[in-house]
Amino acid sequence: MIRKKVLVTGGAGFVGSHLIDRLLKEGNEVICVDNYFTGQKQNIIHLMENPFFEYIRHDITMPFFIEVDEIFNLACPASPIHYQLNPIKTVKTSVSGAINMLGLAKRINAKILQASTSEVYGDPKVHPQREDYWGHVNPIGTRSCYDEGKRVAETLFFNYHWQNQVRIKVIRIFNTYGPRMHPHDGRVVSNFIMQALQGKDITIYGDGSQTRSFQYVDDLVEGMIRMMNSREDFIGPVNIGNPNEFTIGELAEKVIELTGTKSKIIYEALPSDDPLQRQPDISLAKKELNWQPNIQLEEGLKKTIDYFKRYVN
Ligand code: NAD
Ligand code: UDP
Repeated sequence: MIRKKVLVTGGAGFVGSHLIDRLLKEGNEVICVDNYFTGQKQNIIHLMENPFFEYIRHDITMPFFIEVDEIFNLACPASPIHYQLNPIKTVKTSVSGAINMLGLAKRINAKILQASTSEVYGDPKVHPQREDYWGHVNPIGTRSCYDEGKRVAETLFFNYHWQNQVRIKVIRIFNTYGPRMHPHDGRVVSNFIMQALQGKDITIYGDGSQTRSFQYVDDLVEGMIRMMNSREDFIGPVNIGNPNEFTIGELAEKVIELTGTKSKIIYEALPSDDPLQRQPDISLAKKELNWQPNIQLEEGLKKTIDYFKRYVN
């Protein structure tokens, strides 16, 4: 067995911590870099005694030097309330962070994967979204710090590849949920479950007819690993998401049913630039990575609800 040295930026976050579990299980050595802006030590505390795991508090907008074989670049707040808290910092994390990590990959000849997002499609006019769709993004909207930051990061990844032959992999992640999401991170699945478990009103923004396609975190991690290990000349971008599309109203009903809560639904204002619909076309991931999601909404929600119970009991 070859033990690879793998750097995961944003490793104390929701997705990063699951990815690290998987990388360690496969016998690799993992270094987690995180500034703990939205991540939690709690997500990686179970790894502290593992001699093949190291964590470093560091902000990726600052240069970072290390010797590794692979880099997964996940550092960036993902929830709208968090990335809008300090939009300039969000752009810096995506852009300066990408430059720092790509510079590192170039210097040490590491393979590097970028956690891009379905938000690069903005409020899409093409449905479902294929990778060759260029998107519909408001460059000065409230979401632009995240959307445009991630778009520039993709540009940087491809230019480092073309100009400097850096070995890149770019995935576009669609809405993902599961255990270890921050209970107050404001994303819809964690919000609805926390509200339901506490018997509070369930807050639908707008009329609930907007759609999203929700992927369980284990499916995403499988896609990330397959992408990192895919043939050298397959660099993406590739959509990784679950094509099962639901309205936010349907999601609220499902959470009510599965938790058995007496919570009522209330309607609040829709945030600006909130995309109306979102569904990945995953034919490319199926063809190139032989990947498709296996965990459907009800099963994934049950596991997530079980996890969130620790915050209310
Ligand atoms: P998260 O907020 O739980 O994790 C992000 C992690 O990055 C946190 O631990 C945070 O502390 C860290 N971080 C933020 N800024 C940093 C900086 N400047 N330096 C070092 N660390 C920093 O979010 P997540 O859901 O785990 O998302 C992980 C990645 O996947 C993000 O890049 C996100 O854009 C992308 N993504 C996630 C989703 C999703 O639905 N979860 C969808 C699309 C894309
Ligand atoms: N949303 C909602 N109630 C909430 C949180 C979010 O109705 O308490 C809506 C939000 O307006 C959006 C969808 O759910 O239409 C998904 O929001 P999230 O922040 O999870 O992800 P994103 O908008 O980035 O896809």
